[in-house]
Amino acid sequence: MAQSNKSRRVRLETQMPEETTAETGRPQRAVRERLPLLPLKEVVVFPNMVIPLLVGRPMSVAAVEESLASGRLLFVCAQTEPNEDTPSLSSLYKVGVASTILQTMRMHDGTMKIVIEGLARGSIRRLIHRKSMLEVVVRPVQSTGLNDKRGVALMRTTLAQFEDYVRLSQRIAPEILMQLRNVTEAEMLADLICAYLSLRTEERQELLATVNVRQRLEKISALLMRENELLEIEREVRDRVREQMEHSQREYYLQEQLKAIHQELGKTDEGDESSELRQMVIKAKMPKDVEEKALREVARYERLPFMSPEGAVIRTYVEWLADVPWRKRSKDTLDIEKAKVILDKDHYGLDKVKERILEFLAVRKLSKKAKGPILCLVGPPGVGKTSLGKSIARAMDRKFVRVSLGGVRDEAEIRGHRRTYVGSLPGRVIQSMKKVGVKNPVFMLDEIDKMNMDFRGDPASALLEVLDPEQNHAFNDHYLEVDFDLHEVFFITTANNEFDIPYALHDRMEIVRLSGYTSYEKQHIARLFLIPKQLRESGLKKRDITIEESAVGVLIDRYTREAGVRELERRLAAVCRKVARKILEKDTKAPFVVTAETVSELLGPFEYSELRADLELQPGVAIGMAWTHTGGDILHIETTTMKGKGALTLTGQLGNVMQESAKAAYSYLRARAKDLKIPETFYKTWDLHVHVPEGAIPKDGPSAGVPIAVSMLSALRGAAPKKAASMTGEITLRGRVLPIGGVKEKVLAAHRAGIRLVVLPKENEKDLVEIPEEVKADTEFVLVNTIGEAFKAVM
Ligand code: ADP
Repeated sequence: MAQSNKSRRVRLETQMPEETTAETGRPQRAVRERLPLLPLKEVVVFPNMVIPLLVGRPMSVAAVEESLASGRLLFVCAQTEPNEDTPSLSSLYKVGVASTILQTMRMHDGTMKIVIEGLARGSIRRLIHRKSMLEVVVRPVQSTGLNDKRGVALMRTTLAQFEDYVRLSQRIAPEILMQLRNVTEAEMLADLICAYLSLRTEERQELLATVNVRQRLEKISALLMRENELLEIEREVRDRVREQMEHSQREYYLQEQLKAIHQELGKTDEGDESSELRQMVIKAKMPKDVEEKALREVARYERLPFMSPEGAVIRTYVEWLADVPWRKRSKDTLDIEKAKVILDKDHYGLDKVKERILEFLAVRKLSKKAKGPILCLVGPPGVGKTSLGKSIARAMDRKFVRVSLGGVRDEAEIRGHRRTYVGSLPGRVIQSMKKVGVKNPVFMLDEIDKMNMDFRGDPASALLEVLDPEQNHAFNDHYLEVDFDLHEVFFITTANNEFDIPYALHDRMEIVRLSGYTSYEKQHIARLFLIPKQLRESGLKKRDITIEESAVGVLIDRYTREAGVRELERRLAAVCRKVARKILEKDTKAPFVVTAETVSELLGPFEYSELRADLELQPGVAIGMAWTHTGGDILHIETTTMKGKGALTLTGQLGNVMQESAKAAYSYLRARAKDLKIPETFYKTWDLHVHVPEGAIPKDGPSAGVPIAVSMLSALRGAAPKKAASMTGEITLRGRVLPIGGVKEKVLAAHRAGIRLVVLPKENEKDLVEIPEEVKADTEFVLVNTIGEAFKAVM
């Protein structure tokens, strides 16, 4: 609708015709009976509507010419078949509008532009074909009125709906509303609203043909309701789309700004970053296939939007690929003579161990191949496993790296997580390789006996793949995804307890045992290695401090209880720190002399009571020896008898094996009661109670058989043993004594506790070579085949 509202309003007011209809009481224009016909395609004109029209058909042009010549009136009505050029009566809607031509404009191609204004409804009675045009005979259509209050209400409702429509559609100038609010005529209001609504031709025609004004308004109201609903939905959709657009535009804008900021700061932008990554890949000199993969990833990185999270993942991955040592290696010399010198220089004692290691290295050197067993150093903490590993690396001129496997229960810790996991990383093996930076380091895998297996897979089998020379030239880390060659790595493993090493691994190991040091050896280690090292670390000079041998002795006996020297080293470090402070604070004059007495001034009260066996001989008490993870220990076994019915009570957290040993000893005594000179019916009249003090500590193992039997016999006889001895050995019901393990640790513990008589199974005689000379020198060993010999030795 192209007409201007102003012009229409003016015309509505000024062109008010003279006649008034009876029905509506409003002025009604005269309609001549016979009028030229202007058939319209897809346009429905309403009374009071001003509309420009393009007239092209010759028949229509002729009708306009005729009208202009005869008072400017013509009849317009819509065609039911818009495609028909010369409509018949049946292809015209019956109801149309008599209109007046307000303006004309002739175009050079013979067509015309005209502006008409609708005057009044009329209905076609007859169609007359003239030479060049159509004429119609029409009859006026009188609308039926609506003047009651309900009519007013209906007008208001419709107007209100139309106001909403104007607001929602945003296609109609709001001034139109001002004009409509002043209309008091229901029919006029209806027709004006119709003029503005955008409806389909059929709907408009239906409204035109509805004679009853109330019905017409009701129909308009219904249509408005539908349109308003649709518009409301449209608006919601539009708003949502706009919001999304704004969000992405905002993001784009911010990212552009960020780029600009980076450039201002002189930081590389993404283009440079990817070329930097590419350079990194090329410099890393990876194997061909790995390099191809890495470059593919870089290309993918380039295509990603700036700062995308996936970009960061790819970047980290490529950096990992570039950082692991694909080619770099340190020169690898292995001179056995030099190795011996280094091992000796770094470690006191350990002769057997050093020899084994040198043999191992020699075989490796001769056979040239990396294949063969893996060295596994087994022993309690602090006995020098790690430092031996370091010395081996030094001897071979290789770099050293160490990773602890204690507590590892997830295969992925060894083999890495797949890249699909958030924050995934390579496993510990690849991480350590990156850290050490060469492909041929000495690689120490610590505490392989402390790995656990659970639902997350078996770390031991992953470790096997790492260690197995058949497989490890193509080790596949889940994160790296490409094979990494480990076959030049010299692996060393360590464990605290040989029996906890997973079976499959144990099979491949060359086990070298380190069993712990005597106090005497510890003294030497402290003097030759630990004290000089701690002086260096605390910045003290030799002239600042003197640590007397007796002081080291106190540190060993009263502040530590261990097989190795780790705690001793810590204590020495503490002593050095405290002395350093005193010297700095000028609290003392150099040299500060650390004696057995000053130690407790520096470190506070003793940590352990003196390890002395209770050597007072009492009926029912015998001393056993135990092997523990931190070396060896002694234990007192007590038996008491009381009147009863032959019950045997065992306390002190004894394990199953130890309880069975006790029962075997009991049965043996019962069976041999006569020979052993004890009351033959003791099992009927006496109760026996065997207790092993420090009851809170669980104890187990078969080697307590001998001391338990001695303790029971001594209680039953009511006589104390003749000699203070410590004993070990498994017993059978026939009284045989079987060999046991951990002889060195046990003997050292007994020696530390001041015991000088040790009863051992005869079959353990071979183990005595391991006992240090200074211990052998003041200890008497009794080797027994039967329990009877053990009784004879001590009772
Ligand atoms: P582990 O790995 O067996 O737990 P470490 O190798 O860490 O033990 O040893 C602990 C400390 O004791 C190190 O400082 C080490 O140099 C020192 N140490 C252990 N045994 C000896 C030894 N025989 N000679 C010299 N120093 C030793």
